[in-house]
Amino acid sequence: MADIIQLLPDHVANQIAAGEVVQRPASVVKELLENAIDAGSSTIKLIIKDAGKTLIQVIDDGKGMSATDARLSFERHATSKIRSAEDLFSLNTKGFRGEALASIAAIAHVELKTKLEQDELGTLIEIEGSTIKNQDMVVTPKGTSLSVKNLFFNIPARRNFLKSNNVELRHIIDEFHRVALAHPDITFSMYHNGSESFNLPESNYRQRVVNIFGGKTNEKLVPVEEETEVLKISGFVGKPEFAKRTKSEQFFFVNNRFIKSAYLNHAINSAFEGLVKEGSHPSYFLNLTVDPKSIDINIHPTKTEIKFDDEHTLYAILRSSVKHSLGQFNIAPVLDFERDNNLDTPYSYRDKNATTPKVEVDRSFNPFQEEKSQVSSRGLTQTYRKEPAAQWESLYVGLESKGTKTDSDFSEVEFESDPEKTSLFSDDVTTETVQTTYQLHNKYIISTIKSGMMILDQHRAHQRILYEGFLKHLTVKEAVSQQLLFPLTLEFSSTEMTVLQQLKEDLEHTGFVFSSFKDSTIEITGVPVNVPESEVSIILEQLISDIEQEVPDSNFSATDLLAKSMSKSLAIKTGQSLTTIEQEHLVNSLFACKEPSVSPTNRVTFITMSVDDFDKKFM
Ligand code: ADP
Ligand code: MG
Repeated sequence: MADIIQLLPDHVANQIAAGEVVQRPASVVKELLENAIDAGSSTIKLIIKDAGKTLIQVIDDGKGMSATDARLSFERHATSKIRSAEDLFSLNTKGFRGEALASIAAIAHVELKTKLEQDELGTLIEIEGSTIKNQDMVVTPKGTSLSVKNLFFNIPARRNFLKSNNVELRHIIDEFHRVALAHPDITFSMYHNGSESFNLPESNYRQRVVNIFGGKTNEKLVPVEEETEVLKISGFVGKPEFAKRTKSEQFFFVNNRFIKSAYLNHAINSAFEGLVKEGSHPSYFLNLTVDPKSIDINIHPTKTEIKFDDEHTLYAILRSSVKHSLGQFNIAPVLDFERDNNLDTPYSYRDKNATTPKVEVDRSFNPFQEEKSQVSSRGLTQTYRKEPAAQWESLYVGLESKGTKTDSDFSEVEFESDPEKTSLFSDDVTTETVQTTYQLHNKYIISTIKSGMMILDQHRAHQRILYEGFLKHLTVKEAVSQQLLFPLTLEFSSTEMTVLQQLKEDLEHTGFVFSSFKDSTIEITGVPVNVPESEVSIILEQLISDIEQEVPDSNFSATDLLAKSMSKSLAIKTGQSLTTIEQEHLVNSLFACKEPSVSPTNRVTFITMSVDDFDKKFM
């Protein structure tokens, strides 16, 4: 048999390598920005068109290349950054594989203009799919400009695989943030479709973080500084109360290189343990400096993973220095960890009860009537509140801000009502209205049905009800909104704004009214009925997080996601006690739904048990 093994032609090898290096426009952005940094630039400009699908251009003022180097830079394994395998272990540059330019040139139209400082003229090279189309001398400033057009023009499958512009742009912005955060000493700017998205002047680290994530970030930052023999840490963590629903503000840099590390992330989370709610993620922007010899960044082709020699020590140091910082800034002790309304309220009520000396407000107080006034109901409390400056008033502060939603939590101390509890034990009291529902552990609603009984998960059931309601509003495009007394102003990062912009119209169909929607601020003057003002920012954050976690594909529907996310945020929670009327209403509304049996996320909403089932158990 004849020999069958052949060497792959270079352009084929390059295309294959490109598959590894270039997954999407954002990968090109990363490679080009890193090359510009390695070239010692002090100003770097990123220009994007159509989320990078049409154009990605990086212009730097770095050292540039000679004509020969310019030509060589597109060869595979052409790099100026390592000379021997040894160099790999003390790497101070970003690149080293010498693959990026060759790979990119294999799958796009590339134009390079570059000039060394001392040269009069620079070099222009045009390449399409690994083929050099043109090489010339050109007038160009010192440094390098590299434009990448029509990415994946010769690999239609990859091109089709690209996500929507919003998604691709978000990936690009993420890369841009990572690089810009790692290098505050470099001026960065970014333009998308002709308008400026970011302008980040050379600054210190704190300013860089603030310039990227918005002015309000400043007050959130707690500095973390630590220097030990093996590790130097510097940077910031966010105060726990600003923890986000998304992981969008979590950054580790090791020797100025963005990395992902579940292990180190765990160290931070454990330092924040008890300080942030479950499902919230503390922000951090931390730079770790270690001996380059003690890490191996070569284990992952896109180089965001890293291997440390002594992970355990790093973990311990990181955790303790973050804890220390939180403690030093007096954050740990003052925090009220358990923020759940349903848990808070009874406690504050109890406090208030214990120390409420009615003497101080009731001018006609008679100590012998104390018993009587103790028995008073909420009506009295209201009058107390009007009394000026009584010391104990501060105890109400927490209560007032809880709004009406918590009213039901007072049920156990309200005198006039509490039917669901008494009725459990004294059926005879409520003979005239036959009670058909009971609440179990503030979680399940039990209802009698003809064949036996039905057990409903209150949270899921309510999600289903709200979800169908929102969907209806969204499709009919007419929702009722309630006007806010004062406009509500909320700040978001530019990434978050991109997401919100995309959903603006749908949000309006649910009942949101925006009076302004620009830069990093939105102003809200109306919200959907039933949405408490205090929940608005949580709802929007949850929504952004849901959208970001969803991998949007062809059947991705923003409308559906919005309805799901809002119903999740607004549904009554497990732990919330409901009055009989509320319970009945929940049951009835659920069965008025089109699909009562599952929640919007396809979880069972109720189960039934027949009398037969019981009979069997009693056999
Ligand atoms: P690597 O960065 O891994 O060395 P690349 O393919 O990204 O490989 O780049 C190849 C070489 O081209 C680099 O080693 C560098 O010498 C040169 N180069 C690339 N981009 C620039 C730039 N913006 N300025 C100066 N030189 C550059
Ligand atoms: Mg490179």
